[in-house]
Amino acid sequence: MIGAGPYGLAIAAHLRARQIPTVVFGKPMEFWHDMPAELYLKSSWSAASLSDPSRLFSLDRYVRSVEPHPGEPIPLPFFLRYARWFVEHAVPDVDPTYVQSLKRNDRGFRLALADGRTVEADRVIVAVGVRPFAYMPDFARDLPASVCSHTQAHSDFSCFRDRRVAVVGSGQSALEYAALLHEAGADVEVIARGPVIWINRKLYEHTGPAKRIFYPPTDVGPPGLNWLIAFPLIVRRLPEKMRLALRRRAMRPAGAKWLRPRVDGRIKTTPNTVVRRATTESGQVRLELSDGSVRVVDHLLLGTGFRPDLQRISLLDDSLRVRVAARRGFPILNEWFESSVPGLHFVGGVAGYDFGPLCNFVAGAKLTARRVARRAAAAA
Ligand SMILES: Cc1cc2nc3c(=O)[nH]c(=O)nc-3n(C[C@H](O)[C@H](O)[C@H](O)COP(=O)(O)OP(=O)(O)OC[C@H]3O[C@@H](n4cnc5c(N)ncnc54)[C@H](O)[C@@H]3O)c2cc1C
Repeated sequence: MIGAGPYGLAIAAHLRARQIPTVVFGKPMEFWHDMPAELYLKSSWSAASLSDPSRLFSLDRYVRSVEPHPGEPIPLPFFLRYARWFVEHAVPDVDPTYVQSLKRNDRGFRLALADGRTVEADRVIVAVGVRPFAYMPDFARDLPASVCSHTQAHSDFSCFRDRRVAVVGSGQSALEYAALLHEAGADVEVIARGPVIWINRKLYEHTGPAKRIFYPPTDVGPPGLNWLIAFPLIVRRLPEKMRLALRRRAMRPAGAKWLRPRVDGRIKTTPNTVVRRATTESGQVRLELSDGSVRVVDHLLLGTGFRPDLQRISLLDDSLRVRVAARRGFPILNEWFESSVPGLHFVGGVAGYDFGPLCNFVAGAKLTARRVARRAAAAA
């Protein structure tokens, strides 16, 4: 298992339950530890449990036995404490070493580790998350990191106090990071190519137990589509055009309702506007916008999300990468999340071309773990 985020941990727990010897490499929940501690999860409670086959280590179990329910939205530090408990009980022996390269050999796979060790495996699951895919728009490519960065590079905004920061994007990360910057004393403007949309969850809030009719526990996507998205094996059978349309709709940039009071009326937002050009000017960034106006800011923060691309998973040896059939940068996967290279699986966001938007969220790990573990057990 390469990766110890929600997917790697869940799959490892399911594999072990089937007595399949499994070694997990990666730093447990590293991506989440690197987020700002003041962050809240966008996921609702029912969609935030890490998966183990007997549900012994769900969020509900955690609040029953360890610490009280914090309410929703779920604060990141609480989620991280829960995840630590999950790791301690379900996958206690994660090896935090990075895998440097992965090759195929005649017996299976050969992993070269960052500390010089090598490991052989019959089956490999690539669960490295979306971090390698942080998207830099063309206008930002030549700007130095001192004045332009992606949201994922930050966990602390105190250095932005009294500085002017433009945040590009209008998804949850862009809007929440804009709020955190503002609260840290920065002068912030959000520039979005589309409208700034706030998710309205009236049906969730006002329908009591009947909310489950409108919102499946996985809770990804708008009512109606969310039930389809909850079944990735059905999504996989849809024509490509429908899958892409589903992805566009479910992943459309929007902010959670609870975030709105921290942005509306507090932070300047410039919707329906694109950055045409960005240049450095005396240590600042000059932005030329599509409405003809200009901004000069101290820092440009890109809340532009992640675009999976197999080419950017650097640990894959080129000789292996060329054997992985791909489309639009995503590996093409069978119903067991297995690529065209037998025994090589890809999970998480990079599986989204076939299995849809659920793969971008913690809630997608349960189905993924069940499928991969079943495949591995059948082949063992
Ligand atoms: C700001 C923000 C907020 C989010 N909020 C939510 C939310 O509320 N709910 C939700 O469901 N999703 C949320 N997400 C998406 C979330 O990141 C994914 O759901 C989840 O992290 C995917 O899990 P993963 O296991 O695929 O990858 P990750 O969590 O990214 O884990 C990757 C793992 O791979 C390891 N790794 C990387 N490279 C190597 C290597 N070479 N060798 C070995 N190990 C390696 C890392 O150490 C890590 O353990 C959010 C994302 C962002 C950016």
